[in-house]
Amino acid sequence: MFVPKQINRETERLFTKLERVGWGKSDCTLIAPLTLEINLLKRKKNAIILAHSYQTPDIMYGVADFLGDSYALSMRARETKANTIVFSSVHFMAETAKILNPKKTVLVPAVAGCSLAESITTYDVRGLKKAYPNAGVVCYINTTANVKAECDAVCTSGNALKIIERMPQKEIIFLPDEFMAKNLQPLTRKKLIGWKGRCIVHEEFSPKTVKEIRKEYPNAKILAHSECSPAVIHEADMMGSTKQMLDYVDASKNEEFMLVTECGLSDRVRVEKPGKKIVGSCALCPYMKKIMLKDILECLKSPRPEQIITLPNDIIKKAKKSLDLMIKLSK
Ligand code: SF4
Repeated sequence: MFVPKQINRETERLFTKLERVGWGKSDCTLIAPLTLEINLLKRKKNAIILAHSYQTPDIMYGVADFLGDSYALSMRARETKANTIVFSSVHFMAETAKILNPKKTVLVPAVAGCSLAESITTYDVRGLKKAYPNAGVVCYINTTANVKAECDAVCTSGNALKIIERMPQKEIIFLPDEFMAKNLQPLTRKKLIGWKGRCIVHEEFSPKTVKEIRKEYPNAKILAHSECSPAVIHEADMMGSTKQMLDYVDASKNEEFMLVTECGLSDRVRVEKPGKKIVGSCALCPYMKKIMLKDILECLKSPRPEQIITLPNDIIKKAKKSLDLMIKLSK
């Protein structure tokens, strides 16, 4: 379908970015027909591709229109004029796009869950509300649309503290991330009532690993995501969201960093911030890494029913109220 000249040009375009994460030219040539076709279809169908920072580099630098964390991508989804949003990320994020912009067609290339989103049901939220009737309910964005619909406000890792502080109640049911609630508790005078959800990626890191990296790279700054355990956060130089970690890297005069989070973020630093060096280890999210270029092409060509996000109107209405409160309180 594409002539050699087009393939060569696309190979060069991909290689300028992907060589920084170890891709060879022949790897780029292999995926060039796919990225060319996806980018062509995207224009034909007036679609945009939003990709989370935990996606693979071929998606992030080959076809995505916007890269970011759940908050930034949600805002893009809310404001876009495109007819179709392809959300290259896990299912709850695509649901969030549908809630914020329900008239658009929202596609998710592969049906991928999340251990946090799967850790709590609406039934559990109702039980918590009954047990703590005076508490406000703040749920992390890593929850299903049904759970968001049961809460007062949504938050992200970047704005969680601000939302908690600005809620009128003194007690806050903060769900579903057990570690994030424990990490935030010392930072607020409000009482946080947590849940038992955990991110299977961030719970893998141990304080021992962080100490070993510090010993091996004494000049490195160690930045940890707030989904890590309090013991890991204790060993780190900074706790934050993926965006806050990238901002820290930008602002810091330091050259070496360990990012205690999913490997996609380290890839972003390698590609986008050539003067900075990533050391130590990272972890792969099996849900995020489920999505491949061929899935994006398939859903753009002719989406299967499970790739199209549909939600009942009453859930959209209630969950939007919680998301709108987050947007208002985080200003
Ligand atoms: S990294 Fe953790 S929180 Fe994010 S999608 Fe994967 S399992 Fe869920």
